[in-house]
Amino acid sequence: MSDFKFCPVCAASLVLRADEGEAGKVRLACPDGHWTHWDNPLPVLAALVEIDGKMLTARNAAWAEGRFALITGFMERDETPEQGIARELKEETDLDAQYIELIGVYEFMRKNELIIAYYVKASGVIKLSPELVEYRLSAPADLRPWPAGTGHAVADWMRQRDLPVQYVGFAGSTTPIEAPVVLK
Ligand SMILES: [Zn+2]
Repeated sequence: MSDFKFCPVCAASLVLRADEGEAGKVRLACPDGHWTHWDNPLPVLAALVEIDGKMLTARNAAWAEGRFALITGFMERDETPEQGIARELKEETDLDAQYIELIGVYEFMRKNELIIAYYVKASGVIKLSPELVEYRLSAPADLRPWPAGTGHAVADWMRQRDLPVQYVGFAGSTTPIEAPVVLK
């Protein structure tokens, strides 16, 4: 459930407690009531980036070959999500965001995250941060989303442009699968 062991206020060992408001829900909490680990999903920013009419995806240094994804990152305190995604884009690719439009908000329960996905038109010369090892520029119709997380954002963006969506079974796979039902 979580790696948290001690109260951040008094360092007492955390205990599992029944949530007062929600039947059947247990939460890690300080026995003296200082702190509760709510375990809320963390917002993650994602950008489907267009530069000179091509869509940019990049491979993280930790990922297997052939696995390309959107530019993503966490928000910082005191910034709007739009400022955050422009900052992440600059940090990770050295590109400048010229136009930012929300695609949608998507669950990513596997990692307890909430994805806020943007379509970003960018300008500049791509220079990857050490976090990213290579990038790919694809025609919009050649995007192949995976059926989870940011893949739903890519698929929605393609549908908005009447592009046929062909999902891949997992990141980097070239084997198409049946499109899943996307709940709206
Ligand atoms: Zn405590």
